[in-house]
Amino acid sequence: MGQRVRPPSAHPEVAGGRRWPSLFSRLGRRSGWHSLLSCCLFLGLSACQPASYRLDSRYASANQNERIAFLILHYTDEDDAHSLRLLTEPQYKVSAHYLIPRDTDQTPLPIYQLVPDSQRAWHAGRSRWHQYAGLNTSSLGIEIVNLGYETGQELLPVQLRHWQPYTQAQIAAVGALAQELIRRYQIPQTQVLGHSDVAPERKQDPGPLFPWRELALQYGVGAWPDEARVEQLRRQPAPAWDALAWQQQLARYGYGIAPSGDWDEQSRTVLSAFQLHFRPALVNGEPDAESQAILSALLERYFPESR
Ligand SMILES: [Zn+2]
Repeated sequence: MGQRVRPPSAHPEVAGGRRWPSLFSRLGRRSGWHSLLSCCLFLGLSACQPASYRLDSRYASANQNERIAFLILHYTDEDDAHSLRLLTEPQYKVSAHYLIPRDTDQTPLPIYQLVPDSQRAWHAGRSRWHQYAGLNTSSLGIEIVNLGYETGQELLPVQLRHWQPYTQAQIAAVGALAQELIRRYQIPQTQVLGHSDVAPERKQDPGPLFPWRELALQYGVGAWPDEARVEQLRRQPAPAWDALAWQQQLARYGYGIAPSGDWDEQSRTVLSAFQLHFRPALVNGEPDAESQAILSALLERYFPESR
């Protein structure tokens, strides 16, 4: 789930119904206003106010794009009932556009739309990808009911923790929904991401058991490297990247990492987010030939011009 965020402050004219009586009583005290006020109250406010502008939409600009540029996937870390409460009740200050439940025998699986696509949901929190920051503004969020890893295993390496698998019904529902949203909003495949990709220092959802490969190959959802090319790159004796090269290539793909030249905590965290997504069998944040081959193949496929 996302970092909790403050709700936008309500517009006083919309939220503060108590303003009207005081305004009316002030106006009503002035001579001459009383009859106009009565007229407005009787006919409705708009009927006796002259229009102050006329909207003319003849000149549409070619220079615009879809506000929604990302699809961010999460697990809820809660069961069905708690997930629904957390994502809908005002005191929790978190939400997502869609919630995919787990323990229901309804067929097909229901998907709860909690926030309309046109509205900003509060799921990503502090987050970065390429030049974007604060991705709640530019994304849709899908939360999937899943308990993550077992309580008390926080200090174990990712691959030694016991993670709850996703159900086939959930995977099919995510695949079909994501396919539709990508098509509707023309979301680039490299911008279908996990919460861990855009907030690697805080988040590990949707976790190493999330089926990114299956979604990409069977549903056309999200980026995936050409596997034959990965194999070829692994067999080529390419020089291993140093810390700076790793940081630069991860940043080129989109990760929020500042090239420092030192293999620091930030670098390990971001590389482990990359491994969670593209090489979940070993998520240790340490550079190796396989991760390098996968990232090289991804860059060749999706960002060939950005060298
Ligand atoms: Zn999340």
